[in-house]
Amino acid sequence: MTSQRENRVLIVEDDPLVSEMVIGLLEEIGYAVAGKAADGRQALKLAHSLRPDVILMDIQIPDIDGIEATRRIQESCPTPVVILTAYASPDLVARASAAGVGAYLLKPPSAFELDRAITIARARFEDLLELRRLNADLQARNAELDAFAQTVAHDLKSPLGIIIGRAELLDMSYDEFPEESRRQMVRAMARNARKMSNIVDGLLLLARLRNTEVKLEPVDMGFVVAEAQRQLAYMINEAGAMISYPETWPRVLGHSLLIEEVWVNYISNGLKYGGQPPRLELGAERTTDGMARFWVKDNGPGLSPAEQAQLFTPFTQLHQVRTRGYGLGLSIVRHIVEKLGGEVAAVSEVGQGSTFSFTLPLVPKNSSEKSPSS
Ligand code: MN
Repeated sequence: MTSQRENRVLIVEDDPLVSEMVIGLLEEIGYAVAGKAADGRQALKLAHSLRPDVILMDIQIPDIDGIEATRRIQESCPTPVVILTAYASPDLVARASAAGVGAYLLKPPSAFELDRAITIARARFEDLLELRRLNADLQARNAELDAFAQTVAHDLKSPLGIIIGRAELLDMSYDEFPEESRRQMVRAMARNARKMSNIVDGLLLLARLRNTEVKLEPVDMGFVVAEAQRQLAYMINEAGAMISYPETWPRVLGHSLLIEEVWVNYISNGLKYGGQPPRLELGAERTTDGMARFWVKDNGPGLSPAEQAQLFTPFTQLHQVRTRGYGLGLSIVRHIVEKLGGEVAAVSEVGQGSTFSFTLPLVPKNSSEKSPSS
């Protein structure tokens, strides 16, 4: 019981004799007394100011009783509580449990009972905190899923609307349109169907990310960037974009195909929203915390702070106007990068362009793995 020294106990007891006896027992089993309160209000005050590790609480005390005091303490500064009582009726036990009491002690307690009750109250309290954390996580996740479903539905609905509209128009008045208009409508349908197909691919990727462990491997970043650029060759050409690269890339751990997806996303955003014509600067730097940061800087109009705040978090911001077309793609980027142990960020100033970045862990210096060929 020598390890209990750091456990500070607040004693709430209006009977000085009992209080003294309990203090003696606590010292015997190696607890420190943080303070003493003789009524409910003082108990609340000291619980806040002393932040004890555990509270021993008499039930019959002036002002507010021990159970009500416990309830208020759990609300405002959660702390493990052991109730000290002269008797324990089922009714009392039920009330005390509902208030957040962790254990009971019948007066007069023995040193052994006191020690055990404190241990139980603290363990229950830990469980309770863990349960609250899990519950909060779950709620956040549900909210995210709801918002995600809405984001995806929205993203799918607009191309679908175009496809349906053109198809119906062609169906109704096929002969009234000249050949060239019909061709344009069919092309618009194909383009929007392709867009939907890409969204579905993104969803499948997200689902895979959620359900699989990704093994981190050294990444040949030059190769990965070249592959991403190859995927976007048509778009780059169409936009008349200029893209610049660093001469070398830091050696990082990651997953080539997933990181390629990140680059495709950032570069295509730069092509779409960057500037006219787009000039994209790709770059990288080592950071001080064993990571490397990679970025795409564009020459676009930039984003306001409000727009930036919405980037990467479309799932939880659905009541606000979504930032242009960034929605789903950046969510996927965020999931990928976080899965690989990194972070995403966007820095922008209106009129100064935007920089989208992500970090990945550097290959450890004395790693035996051979350098990826580049
Ligand atoms: Mn009392």
